[in-house]
Amino acid sequence: MKHIYLDHNATSPSSDEHLSSLFLKLKDSIGNPSSPHSKGRNASVCLTEARKAIANSLSVDVGEIIFLSGATEANNIATIGVLNYTKTPMHSQHVITSSIEHPAIKEPILFLKNSQNLQVTELNVSFDGFIQIEDIIKNIKPETTLLTIMAANNEIGTIQPVKFIGDYLHYMRWGIVTSQTDKETFDLLTTNYLNSEITKEHLQKIHFHVDAVQAYGKIELENWFSFGHDSVSISGHKVGSLQGIGALFLRRGRKYLPLILGGAQEKNRRAGTENLPGIISFGLIAKDLYSEHWRNEKSYITNLRDTLLTELSKLPNIELNTPINNILPNTVNFSVQGKKLKGEDLLVELDLQGICASSGSACSSGANLPSKVILALGKETSQAKNTIRLSLAYSNTKEEIEKTLSIIKNYLSN
Ligand code: PLP
Repeated sequence: MKHIYLDHNATSPSSDEHLSSLFLKLKDSIGNPSSPHSKGRNASVCLTEARKAIANSLSVDVGEIIFLSGATEANNIATIGVLNYTKTPMHSQHVITSSIEHPAIKEPILFLKNSQNLQVTELNVSFDGFIQIEDIIKNIKPETTLLTIMAANNEIGTIQPVKFIGDYLHYMRWGIVTSQTDKETFDLLTTNYLNSEITKEHLQKIHFHVDAVQAYGKIELENWFSFGHDSVSISGHKVGSLQGIGALFLRRGRKYLPLILGGAQEKNRRAGTENLPGIISFGLIAKDLYSEHWRNEKSYITNLRDTLLTELSKLPNIELNTPINNILPNTVNFSVQGKKLKGEDLLVELDLQGICASSGSACSSGANLPSKVILALGKETSQAKNTIRLSLAYSNTKEEIEKTLSIIKNYLSN
């Protein structure tokens, strides 16, 4: 049976074409990049090439890219590593985050809260899954040292205003703004919401981290990246590279206490021999992002997503959890609602028919727990327990979407 893969937010499998180019590169380059001989030098050249490709894809400097085992590690660094770097005791530091962050952000913050009394403000989101800018500004305190907000949600696909928040912080820290309209909006927000005790020095001290795993390579950089971001985490396997590779963009001048100690790799910021296959793979993918071809692919995927959204919204017993606007081009999340209907059963039915989908976050699927993201929208537990996420890529076809819709319709009518 030919499989239909609709779980690209969990892992977007590498194409055959990518694997072939990767194999060719790896054949020549597997030495240790730290070794002085020719194989080591080859490996080091590949490492540099990949770093350049990732830096270019984000329009940042090569020295600002740190290779890691994935975005989970990047998010641990951006929380535990960043907060431990400041000499202030943990209980005197304050973090602002949101209720819909990925566990790779939530768990390290919870760990520091429980073990060292870190002060945490977890902001609620609107009923349709968006973080409110005013809420962030209102909650900034003199003790705030970290603000961490995701660029796009992995379960429901909502794109968060991290670009705007970054631009606001950049203006407030350094007085730099791109337009008069922005200046007026930012000034109004400050007058209405920013605690008058907060100075520009306080704002310069706050580290603004963005978990951009689901936005990177899916939406235009200019719609989510800002000079106000101090760090950004990205992950290779969400955009078609091998698994087990991720990167942290860390703005020049920002520091953290490394979590893994040993050799001097990654300029003493992450010890351990580099995952060269993963890094080369990630670099090859990054080279093709944000090109004209990439733009065409995005509009193709957006059309498939819109077909899904339109058709699903017509069905009885389906509640869409993905709103209509400001969403990723590839993500659709819905719940099945009805006495005999279960998200779990529909997932099994889809699986039996060769369709790979998920109930939401890969980390919580398998254990029929309600989705914390759907609960955070204020939805009932029954809706949060019966979710299905379909996440698409360019490899999907119109026929695959039609087949998926027809299986869902059949399930609902039986
Ligand atoms: N952050 C978000 C928003 C994610 O969706 C994921 C993976 O699902 C991660 C972080 C963790 O990424 P990785 O699998 O590279 O550790």
